[in-house]
Amino acid sequence: MPGRRTHRTRGIVLDHVKLGEQDLIVTLLAADGTQARAVAKGARKPGGRLAARVELFSETDFLLASGRSLGIVSEATLVDAHGRLRGDLERVSAASAACEVARLTSFEDAEDPFVYPLLSRALKAFEEAADQAHLDLAVAAYVFKVLAHGGWSPELARCIACGDPSPMWFSAAAGGALCESCARDVPGAEPIAPSQLAWVRALIGSTFDRLLAADVTPESALWLAGCAHTWAATHLDARLRAFEFMLAL
Ligand SMILES: [Zn+2]
Repeated sequence: MPGRRTHRTRGIVLDHVKLGEQDLIVTLLAADGTQARAVAKGARKPGGRLAARVELFSETDFLLASGRSLGIVSEATLVDAHGRLRGDLERVSAASAACEVARLTSFEDAEDPFVYPLLSRALKAFEEAADQAHLDLAVAAYVFKVLAHGGWSPELARCIACGDPSPMWFSAAAGGALCESCARDVPGAEPIAPSQLAWVRALIGSTFDRLLAADVTPESALWLAGCAHTWAATHLDARLRAFEFMLAL
């Protein structure tokens, strides 16, 4: 494409929309944390060489040409296909849920060096998770980490309304833990055990390596994934369909 301005960026493929007969519009989380959309021409051509490089969840080095409104993929080199996600419904669903949240926490003009490495590590964690419990834990960790980074960090140590140091209730809408008397005024507040509060704190503060090696029951991990879903849906004010699908499996 002579005359067009081009730029190189690494990106994680978050989403696809079909365009015409053979093309795709891909939504990328770029390495600088911005979100970009670009047309991948011929990406749906059977056996086409671009198809594998713009698969969902792939990390790819792109050369993008500026188009009239969207960028156009002029070169693509696969960096990490996250191949162990493929063909595994639970792992694909986890990656879809994370990419859905990544789409809602990245923006065209807002650079943020934290979000790309976080999503890249999370996708690797979904490949590495030994079982469903650790997969649930890894999704919950990604979601709480990216939201906390974005400014939606839950108050876990004390009642968010009165400061009582031993809260026993939790409300996503209220912004975290509540004591019993404050919880009475908050519709939808739910009881929470100190161990559950400690788990949410660990999701935000611990590394994926430690979480993947942690002792967690399937019930606790599923509860944490549900809690992360409620937290994200409430603060992003969005219906998270891929996340709902993952929780319904
Ligand atoms: Zn209180």
